[in-house]
Amino acid sequence: MIVLKFGGTSVKDQAAIARLIEIVRTPAPNAAVVVSALAGVTDRLLGIAAAAAAGEGGEALASIEGLRQRHHAVAGIVADAELHRDVSESIDREFAALAETVTALVTLRETAPRWVDAIAATGELVSSRIVAAALTSHGVPAEWVDARRVVVTNDEFGSAAPDMDATFAAIASACRPVLAAGRVPVVGGFVGASARGITTTLGRGGSDFSGALVGAALDADEIQIWTDVDGMLTADPRLIDDPRVVPHLSFAEASELAHFGAKVLHPATIQPAMARDIPVRILNSQRPSEPGTLITSGEVAMPPGHGVTAIASKSGITVLNITSTRMVMAHGFLRRLFEVFERHKTAVDVVTTSEASVSVTVDDRRRLPAIVADLSAFAEVSSDGDMAIVCAVGDALPSNAAAAGEILSALHGVPLRMVSQAASRRNVTIVLRAADLRTALSRLHERFVTTESAVS
Ligand code: ASP
Ligand code: MG
Repeated sequence: MIVLKFGGTSVKDQAAIARLIEIVRTPAPNAAVVVSALAGVTDRLLGIAAAAAAGEGGEALASIEGLRQRHHAVAGIVADAELHRDVSESIDREFAALAETVTALVTLRETAPRWVDAIAATGELVSSRIVAAALTSHGVPAEWVDARRVVVTNDEFGSAAPDMDATFAAIASACRPVLAAGRVPVVGGFVGASARGITTTLGRGGSDFSGALVGAALDADEIQIWTDVDGMLTADPRLIDDPRVVPHLSFAEASELAHFGAKVLHPATIQPAMARDIPVRILNSQRPSEPGTLITSGEVAMPPGHGVTAIASKSGITVLNITSTRMVMAHGFLRRLFEVFERHKTAVDVVTTSEASVSVTVDDRRRLPAIVADLSAFAEVSSDGDMAIVCAVGDALPSNAAAAGEILSALHGVPLRMVSQAASRRNVTIVLRAADLRTALSRLHERFVTTESAVS
């Protein structure tokens, strides 16, 4: 069986859901579906939570009413009268509950993350009901499965971590009977609940993760991520004129690319799929006959050449330069340093070290002032904002001894702030000024992607 996950643009309106139905019809009933909220809805819901916290009740309620109407319009695709009535009622129920929550929060000026999650979860809870009813009413029998019953998480609201064993067991016991009855289970992505039953979310982009959890729990033959691009691209299309679709990637490559900025796939998605060795395919729901990108375990046969499969990039990066106040790096320095980041729950992406100093990059600036204050207790700290990461990724890079040198020489004249090649040597990562990102990326793309595919 196949698990199909549809992103927000793939369920954004009636036309999108009509395409979804035709896509699911082929593998059904050997299929399970995971859906995001309709495009833009999660952002709107988070805006509503912020408005409530700011005491702007009128604005928040008007926004809820707008969302309710949009969902009713989309639910018009449910042709069957009885199903349409049921789904309309559930839309009204969800948005009435949301309005009640928001009204209470406006009074309390409450902002606790748990309430933000309760609000944000509305998007997937309604989109999944609409999709289940739409499938059924167009001849693909389906059944809504409440994500809060099957994705069991801790209570780290806003980025809750699933308890894998409990989640796999719950997904299997909820979905297997549905599949056995010839129906397609439909689950809202992004949403879960703590063991005590409090609604949580998995973090932005978390529906991919939900898709992989469902795929792993049901031991799917393939997990398909349906989105609005033709697959993983060789570089960010907003920065490069002629990106190509990468036809085939390894999990390791995809995970490096996702980690360093490729937007198509949530990085954590890879883990459950990789653990169970389930191929992941990225496909365009507006052009379903395009082959997309296939991600599998094992090394992917590379065209001859330099071995760069794709180039990820990410801006909005801050570099922290941390220098030991002793002349050299005493033992224990790195431990103390990373403890500070751990305490502030801030991930570090790239690290380089020299005799007495360490440079690290962070892209989450929220705790930066506190981090700098803590580090200053035992080190001198300076920071550079407006930096960017460029990461050339390829399983074949380790077999090309000259790769790093070629990458650096392609960047001749561009000031490089950090350079790193980790032990796996599957990537060469460079930190530079955000202002130089476009130049750096187009030089690397031209040199390693465009030129090489012309040769091969
Ligand atoms: N709707 C959620 C978001 O916008 C989750 C997802 O779409 O993956 O982040
Ligand atoms: Mg996404």
